[in-house]
Amino acid sequence: MQGRRGLIMGVANDHSIAWGIARTLAAHGAEIAFTYQGEALGKRVRPLADSIGASLVLPCDVEDIATVDQTFATLAETWGGLDFIVHAIGFSDKNELKGRYADTSRDNFSRTMVISCFSFTEVAKRAAALMQPGGSMLTLTYGGSTRVMPNYNVMGVAKAGLEASVRYLAADYGPLGIRVNALSPGPVRTLAGAGISDARLMFNFQKRHAPLRRTVSIDEIGGSALYLLSDLSTGVTGEIHYVDSGYNIVSMPHPEALKT
Ligand code: NAD
Repeated sequence: MQGRRGLIMGVANDHSIAWGIARTLAAHGAEIAFTYQGEALGKRVRPLADSIGASLVLPCDVEDIATVDQTFATLAETWGGLDFIVHAIGFSDKNELKGRYADTSRDNFSRTMVISCFSFTEVAKRAAALMQPGGSMLTLTYGGSTRVMPNYNVMGVAKAGLEASVRYLAADYGPLGIRVNALSPGPVRTLAGAGISDARLMFNFQKRHAPLRRTVSIDEIGGSALYLLSDLSTGVTGEIHYVDSGYNIVSMPHPEALKT
């Protein structure tokens, strides 16, 4: 990644998936700009950014499109171009990340969709305008998009939309030589993850029943991000790549694991 410059959106703290990706990319020579949502998180993100020599740390709330525009205007002014972006942003009202999906409110459905799904399309459009052939974009999804996970509810619907967006954006930008992919990690203990009711139960269940019998670390997710953002994967676009210890392939847990 030497000589490559990219934007990472979605670091909240040192447990964030985006942080695992950032430090992996930085260790391989990438120059990174960060965005943060609000000053409280800015205070956490700045020291992390400093620790890997990041030059730009910008406020950006994807609900306020003016801040997205400002972010890309600053990148255009400072760097002139962009080689990659990582979109690791998701939000839904935690009162609706429990109980029945059927009870989702109209307001929270719209808000969840805008922040967790459409923001990737808005960011991708602005990023593509700064990219040359060889550019690469990445977002973060979860297997609750295609299979029902208790309590994941409207986030599952938003992630299904996000995954479809990855395919449509890959088709839009493929002719320009720009790739668009998603990583689909298994459960990780983060701020966003803790918002889902019974998150601990889900974490332990997947740990017990995934083929590798463990969950994944943010550095492992970083390794997969490195592959998709670098020239190691120049023939890959529109993919949803699982990083979940193989959990997604399991239909029924192994009887031996059910006994323990
Ligand atoms: P996290 O809480 O560390 O990160 C979520 C980020 O989203 C935060 O930095 C937050 O500031 C940002 N965000 C929320 N609303 C925003 C807004 N309006 N504008 C700008 N930023 C906003 O949690 P995480 O688990 O690292 O989440 C990163 C991504 O990974 C999310 O898309 C999440 O759905 C996805 N993911 C998480 C898991 C998991 O188990 N934790 C598994 C699969 C996928």
